[in-house]
Amino acid sequence: MKKYNFNAGPSILPQVVIEKTAEAVKDFNGSGLSIMEISHRSKDFQAVMDEAVALFKELLQIPDGYSVLFLGGGASLQFCMVPYNLLEKKAAYLNTGTWANKALKEAKFFGEVVEVASSKDALYSYIPKDYTIPADADYFHITTNNTIYGTEIRKDIDSPIPLVADMSSDIFSRPLDVSKYAVIYGGAQKNVGPAGVAFVIVKEDVLGKVSRPIPTMLNYRTHVENGSMFNTPPVLPIYACLETLRWLKALGGVEVMEKINIEKATMLYEEIDRNPLFKGTAVPEDRSIMNVCFVMSDEYKDLEQEFLKFATERGMVGIKGHRSIGGFRASIYNAMPKEGVQALIDCMREFERINL
Ligand code: PMP
Repeated sequence: MKKYNFNAGPSILPQVVIEKTAEAVKDFNGSGLSIMEISHRSKDFQAVMDEAVALFKELLQIPDGYSVLFLGGGASLQFCMVPYNLLEKKAAYLNTGTWANKALKEAKFFGEVVEVASSKDALYSYIPKDYTIPADADYFHITTNNTIYGTEIRKDIDSPIPLVADMSSDIFSRPLDVSKYAVIYGGAQKNVGPAGVAFVIVKEDVLGKVSRPIPTMLNYRTHVENGSMFNTPPVLPIYACLETLRWLKALGGVEVMEKINIEKATMLYEEIDRNPLFKGTAVPEDRSIMNVCFVMSDEYKDLEQEFLKFATERGMVGIKGHRSIGGFRASIYNAMPKEGVQALIDCMREFERINL
């Protein structure tokens, strides 16, 4: 039976990425060696790094003055590196969910943190809009896509102070105006590649402004100056990222990707809104086009386990919602084809036919 992978992360990758990476694991560039056993300083791997950085810049139209880094430690290490490198006195954070909270908590190790707004009171079902960014803070941090709660900031907001964004779960889902951001970071394991590498897009002129000494490995400058090769980078995950970026470029880039993503998300939300068995958890105007969260309608709550079993038996993988919100979550990242979304919709319709 065909499986449809709706996992939240690590998550679905394009089939071609898996195949090309498998080939490189067996024999990289016809060298007779695996990509796992060559030097990261070899000419062949340098070419991988250079092309991955170039494609990041090309696909996101990153202006001059920004560096693209590939680092270990996941997005979670960035929760610490951002304040380490940018927070002198005070930082502002928008609290839109679990990950935003974790980022905010790390910043408190380095200085005063202002939570400008929070949607915690409504189980993070919306993005707060009525807030003021303090002009005297060193930066403003947002989480553009809240992987657990299925809400998303899909516009590049204006900030009077440097804007920092965790884009772990929606980078490359739409065109971006990178010039509005000081730092964009994320774990690769949703739209970019496998786990084991994080990407950081950093505006070079925001660095070097804090007075504290920064340990070498935690200093963005180290990695900017050494092209992400100060130490051994995660070679294999970076190779897989490169293959994803090549796939995305061949498909037409982020404009085309956004159209497909909106189409997929619209199909699924329309079914959730139409089908009396289900209801969405995020307010419609803030719904994510990456993570679609829904629950059984109140009168059909007792059918939750049954639907999970029903869908699983029909090849749907990873649709159980996060434990903090329950219900279901269909992660429909870039690599999820329309056909997979349709298969889930068919399941929901079939389940309705049987139960109503
Ligand atoms: N931020 C967001 C929005 C996430 O979804 C995740 C992981 N699911 C993280 C941060 C943490 O990423 P990592 O596991 O790479 O540290």
